[in-house]
Order: sequence, then C-alpha cells, then structure tokens
Amino acid sequence: MKKIVILGAGYAGLMAANRLAKLSRNYQIQLINESENFIERIRNHEYSAGKELRTNKIRDLISKRVIFTQAKVECLDAKNQTISIANQNKKITYDYLIYALGSTANTKSESSYSVNTLWKADELKQVIQAKKAGSLWILGAGLTGIELATELKESYPEWKIGLLDQKPFAKNFSLKARNYFLETFYKMQIDLLENMEYRIQENGIYLNKTKTLLEADLFVQTFGFQCSDLGRRSDLQVNEKNQILVEPSLRALEFSNIFVAGDSAFVEGSSIRMGCVTAMPMGVHAAEMIHRCANDREVQDFSFGFAGRCISLGRKSGVIQLTNSLDEPQPRMIGGKLAAFIKELVCKYTVFSIRLERSFPFRTYFWPKEKILKEQDFSLNSGKLTSLS
Ligand SMILES: Cc1cc2nc3c(=O)[nH]c(=O)nc-3n(C[C@H](O)[C@H](O)[C@H](O)COP(=O)(O)OP(=O)(O)OC[C@H]3O[C@@H](n4cnc5c(N)ncnc54)[C@H](O)[C@@H]3O)c2cc1C
Repeated sequence: MKKIVILGAGYAGLMAANRLAKLSRNYQIQLINESENFIERIRNHEYSAGKELRTNKIRDLISKRVIFTQAKVECLDAKNQTISIANQNKKITYDYLIYALGSTANTKSESSYSVNTLWKADELKQVIQAKKAGSLWILGAGLTGIELATELKESYPEWKIGLLDQKPFAKNFSLKARNYFLETFYKMQIDLLENMEYRIQENGIYLNKTKTLLEADLFVQTFGFQCSDLGRRSDLQVNEKNQILVEPSLRALEFSNIFVAGDSAFVEGSSIRMGCVTAMPMGVHAAEMIHRCANDREVQDFSFGFAGRCISLGRKSGVIQLTNSLDEPQPRMIGGKLAAFIKELVCKYTVFSIRLERSFPFRTYFWPKEKILKEQDFSLNSGKLTSLS
C-alpha cells in the first residue's frame, strides 16, 4: 500500500484527492488543510462586499477513501519524506507527496488591506462596514482589482472607489474589452489612474509624477500573489514568489516523489498563470502522474489550453475576454448580463466539478489540452530543465 499525502485542500488539492481515490484501491490518501472548510477564494471580493458565502465542508467534498486531517503544515523534510504539523510532535510520512498550498497575500505596506485570503477579505469587510463612508483606493488594476472595485462600488455606493496601477490599464485585453471596462467605471463613478508610480504614506498615496498626495481612508493591495516559504525551507527550488520550480510534468526538481499543483507550482517558460482555472487540471494531472510513477510508467508533460478570461463587474455585468490557448487576448469579447451569467456559471462549476469527481467511479473532469511551453522547448535531463533551443 503506497501512502500519498496531499498538502492543501484548495482547488488543486481537492481535485487531486478525488482523482487519486478512484485510480487505485492500493493507495492510502491523506489530505491536510488548516481549515475544515473549502475556501472559494474566487469569491473573496464578493465576501468583502457583504455577500454571504455558502460554507462547503472539506469532508463533504472528498471521497470517503481520503483521510482528512485538519492541521497547519509547519515543515516538510523532503529528503526524509516527512511532514511536521504545527503544535504537534507527530510526524507524517509519505511515499508520494502533492504540494498544493496555494498562494497568499504579500502586502507592500502594513496599512494595506487585501482580499487574497478569506481572513483578509473579512478584515476589509469589517472596516468598510464600520466606517460607513470614505475613500478607498485599490492598488493594482488587474483582474482582482477590477472585480473588487466594481463589487465594492455596487454594494457601498457611498464610498469613493479608485483603481491605481503603475502599468497601463488592461494592456492584456482587447481594445473592445478595455473600452467596456472604462465605460463601466465611468457609469459607476470609479476613478482610474494608470501609469502612475506611487508610494504609500501614512496620510495617503504620494504620486511621483504629479507630486500630489491622493487622500485615502483605505488601501487594498490586489497585486503580488506570494506563496508560503515552506518550499524554500524544505530544500525545494523556488522562484522569487516562493513558487516551487517544477518540470513540465509538475514534478519538483530533484525530488521525483513530489508533484506540485496550483498556485504553488512554477513551470518555467510556460503560459500557466495562477488561477483556479489552471489549479484544478494541475491537481488532476499531479494525481495521474503519481499513479503512473507508482506503476513504473513514464510521466507526461502537463498540457492545458486557455479559452478565455471571465471577469465580473459587480453582480449584474461582466466581461468574457476570448483568448487563444496561450492566454493571449483575441479581438472578441462578451459583455453585460450574459457575461455576468457565464462568470457565475464558471464559479459554480468549480465546486460542482469537485463534487462530480468525488461522486463517480470513472473520470469526470477534462480540459482542453495544448502545449504550455511558450518560447522554448524543455526536456528532462538528469532531473533538471534543459533548454533545447
Ligand atoms: C478575489 C480573488 C478572485 C479570483 N478570481 C479568480 C478567477 O476568476 N479565476 C481564476 O482562475 N482564479 C481566480 N483567483 C485565483 C484563485 O483563487 C487561485 O489561483 C486558486 O485559489 C489557487 O488554487 P490552489 O488550489 O493552488 O490554492 P488555494 O485555493 O489557495 O488552496 C490552498 C489551500 O492550502 C491551505 N494551506 C495553505 N498553507 C497551509 C499550511 N501551512 N497548512 C495547511 N494548509 C495550508 C489553504 O488554507 C487552502 O485551503 C482569484 C483569487 C482571488 C483572491
């Protein structure tokens, strides 16, 4: 009986656990997560805006064959294949490991809020509701920034909401989508400042270009997802965001029995970005690759093709930006109520897919498979990535 431990019960970890449970009866599968509930992180901005979220207990989302342990992972000793749990002397050993601990907030300043974790999203909700009205600037006008600004303005119209970015706004969208966002901001009275270098001060945000101070009661930072330093502390190779460097098969460099899925994984030169859209298929792929390893079969590269990006603009509108398989924007987009409906469907589909994968004895989760490596091809050579070109 092989023991497989999965760290993290987010989008990647849950999919991995449910897929593994149906691949063989010869696996003992243990899933470890710090909370007993599955956090739908993609709805954190809705939570900050006052929406009640449905609670999903992890135990109800996983196969009965998976042992669930509610605990905080403190240490991973990759060489000795053991995991230490916070406040317990107990060590957990494994034959194979799936590392799926996701990402967290990396706030630039102590005074910044965030919606990256549910705890931070709750902190923001409490402060907004306690203050009643004021001005709030969102630092970072990417996907999360856009969704948060519109969601907050819809729920708290008495608040002045602004978006501030050091880079050009929506540069990774079609012109049509960019114009749709700008029109929405105009209608909702959301301010946008782009291409603006700034620094956070106690009494506001200092804009370097105009040498002016932007007064703000609250700042929310939405850029800079960062992973925990657990990988770094465990002799795994990591990048500057603490993402673990993996081969295209999602296997950690130098540790053939560790696979990494979701936000924690970094495949050099690939189109993969942090998102539940990639975390779920990565979780399934990691499970399938462990099954191959356990049966002395060669691992395969992870493949995934993007189709579009879904952005909510409050509860009643949205934008679906169609993309090619490498996530590059195409001229076409869908806007308005239809886009809001599609986005909600996509959010519901994530939890539905996890339940579906748990409920049936056959594979239920599939995704478009395309090459993920962008500019170069990589091949495995002595456990390291080597560029062929
Ligand atoms: C506001 C917001 C909106 C978003 N919208 C979208 C979207 O529309 N589309 C999209 O694709 N992506 C979106 N994302 C990104 C998406 O939420 C993440 O990419 C996704 O959650 C990553 O999944 P994961 O399984 O890797 O990690 P997570 O979902 O973060 O799960 C990791 C799990 O590990 C647990 N954990 C962490 N550390 C420990 C520890 N030491 N011990 C025990 N347990 C631990 C965590 O509690 C968590 O349960 C959004 C994110 C935010 C914040």
